[in-house]
Amino acid sequence: MGSPMFELMRHDVTFPLYVEVDEIYNLACPASPIHYQHDPVQTTKTSVHGAINMLGLAKRVGARILQASTSEVYGDPVVHPQTEDYWGHVNPIGFRSCYDEGKRCAETLFFDYRRQHDLGIKVMRIFNTYGPRMHAHDGRVVSNFVVQALRGEPITIYGDGRQTRSFCYVDDLVDAMVRLMGTPHEVTGPINVGNPNEFTMLTLAETVLEITGSSSDLVFKDLPHDDPQQRRPDITLARESLGWQPTVELEEGLRRTVEYFARTLPARA
Ligand code: UDP
Ligand code: UDP
Repeated sequence: MGSPMFELMRHDVTFPLYVEVDEIYNLACPASPIHYQHDPVQTTKTSVHGAINMLGLAKRVGARILQASTSEVYGDPVVHPQTEDYWGHVNPIGFRSCYDEGKRCAETLFFDYRRQHDLGIKVMRIFNTYGPRMHAHDGRVVSNFVVQALRGEPITIYGDGRQTRSFCYVDDLVDAMVRLMGTPHEVTGPINVGNPNEFTMLTLAETVLEITGSSSDLVFKDLPHDDPQQRRPDITLARESLGWQPTVELEEGLRRTVEYFARTLPARA
């Protein structure tokens, strides 16, 4: 923040943006189901109009542009683990569609700008990521469980807790993003980035309880609409083309996340 070369602007990507830049990382869009479902029309606009504006900007200034896409493009996958050539299994009209289809359409736009205008595009499909500086009310499973455990509140398991996810620590993700941006023009992706170690939500809850030493109870709640049963990236392509693989495993990443929330959580009002 102190650097004279740094400029922070607050801007809604659904409106045009005229700036001079060399590289664009387009991460715009809420990613937590409770947040993106709060204003679903705006969520689709953010992904679709936002991609058009950022691609228009990249085209005008000749910038490289990286799209933060998502494992949600695979929907509730019938191929496991997911490779980049799998087209996915997505409900086009459900509660998650604003996010899933918005991100899918953004990928379409990226590849059409590539074909029509030869833009330097980089499409990264990000699998569940977590770590320090998540918002305590982000609503996703890792922050929910950690915050609940630290406060001694019940741990909310949706469904029977046997659905799986694969969790990537934030520093590993950022490393992969910077590497992808630095690849030659031929490398466009899409490329999966995530940690291929797969856990059930029950195991995650137990691990969080162990690390925090909390005695919170587990409570079972309804499974959200269209909640995918399983998810795990095949990261062969990332290993080969970025020389990348995750270095922080779940237990260590959770320890750092717990340490962060223990330090920053305000006492319960
Ligand atoms: N755009 C932008 N910043 C720029 C250049 C373009 O926000 O520096 C927006 C512009 O408003 C347009 C969109 O990006 O709606 C797509 O631009 P493009 O040049 O691809 O399309 P066109 O303007 O020809 O429709
Ligand atoms: N989940 C849960 N308890 C919570 C929040 C989420 O059991 O308090 C489950 C959710 O139903 C899903 C998984 O954890 O199966 C991951 O949910 P999240 O919202 O973190 O991300 P998603 O991968 O579904 O986008």
